[in-house]
Amino acid sequence: MRMHLRGTVLPGDEVQDLWVHDGVISFEPVRGAETLCDSGWIVPGLVDAHCHVGIRYGGGHEDREGAVAQAEIEREAGALLLRDAGSPIDTRFIDDRPELPEIIRAGRHIARPKRYIRELGIELDDERDLPDIVAEQARFGDGWVKIVGDWIDRSVGDLAPLWSDAILTEAIEAAHREGARVTAHVFGEDALPGLINAGIDCLEHGTGLTGDTIAIMAEHGTALVPTLVNIDTFPDIADSATKFPVYAAHMRDLHRRVRDTVADAHAAGVPIYTGTDAGGSIRHGRIADEIEALAGAGLSRHEALAASSWRAREWLHRPGVEAGAPADFVVYRTDPRESREALDRPAYVVLRGQVYPGRDPVTGHR
Ligand SMILES: [Zn+2]
Repeated sequence: MRMHLRGTVLPGDEVQDLWVHDGVISFEPVRGAETLCDSGWIVPGLVDAHCHVGIRYGGGHEDREGAVAQAEIEREAGALLLRDAGSPIDTRFIDDRPELPEIIRAGRHIARPKRYIRELGIELDDERDLPDIVAEQARFGDGWVKIVGDWIDRSVGDLAPLWSDAILTEAIEAAHREGARVTAHVFGEDALPGLINAGIDCLEHGTGLTGDTIAIMAEHGTALVPTLVNIDTFPDIADSATKFPVYAAHMRDLHRRVRDTVADAHAAGVPIYTGTDAGGSIRHGRIADEIEALAGAGLSRHEALAASSWRAREWLHRPGVEAGAPADFVVYRTDPRESREALDRPAYVVLRGQVYPGRDPVTGHR
């Protein structure tokens, strides 16, 4: 399919003509190209950097058909690059489906017995196995490994770290030797210094960040994916944790201050990216909600969109709207940095040079 588009290509402010042929972008005219649009905003494909294709909404494993449906919903919302932060099923068959977003996998969650959602992760009885398992998952994933950094310890009645600092250092070195980056699920405060000082590349959620840990994150260049749409479920988690009042109060407090936490991290220079945590307790297709949430947590609307588009793509080593790059972008009729409504209504989603309609704002999946 050959096509021509004219619009403001973000992050620039210039109106440009671009062409698509053989699935790639060109800034030189392509003969026989039909014009898809002659005005609008052209945004590098959105990134859901914390997403679980393969975990069913409500819990459990998704089958292939269900995983495809989740990936399609992400595409309709404009999320064309997904960093899968742990999936219980093998979604590699999706790589052969050009109509579905690209998935960058982190292998399976690595946890300890009774210290994560049951049946999702690999559970290590002995923490000394962590470096080997991390290396194994690094080879299985697409350049990322996901470990569970903290979880409720029912014997303590509160969030607590899963690993010693020493084993984290060894494990993260093992992943780096395999050429993979490491990220960790972390809600509370106590696991943070060990993870960051061990050289972890990214933190998921990070609700327990405080001035001190934000400072060491900024110093190390550790990224943060706050998953704000998921953090908004913390009060529900607290309500259902009646047997653990300390934990419940802790979760409520983390939730209460999360927007200030993200704003402080952003102000300190911590790189922040969008992730919805879709799968399990969050429905797929909510990338616009996460962009909106970041825009309410200390980032400008421009920065929040950057965190979901060109900056996130760069972080994941994927190109933006560039000559010769795969034609993966979203077209909006109005400036998506100006209003929520624009983000909710992509006019076209272009993935590998194919045009898909954006989500129908009336019947759209939510
Ligand atoms: Zn998650």
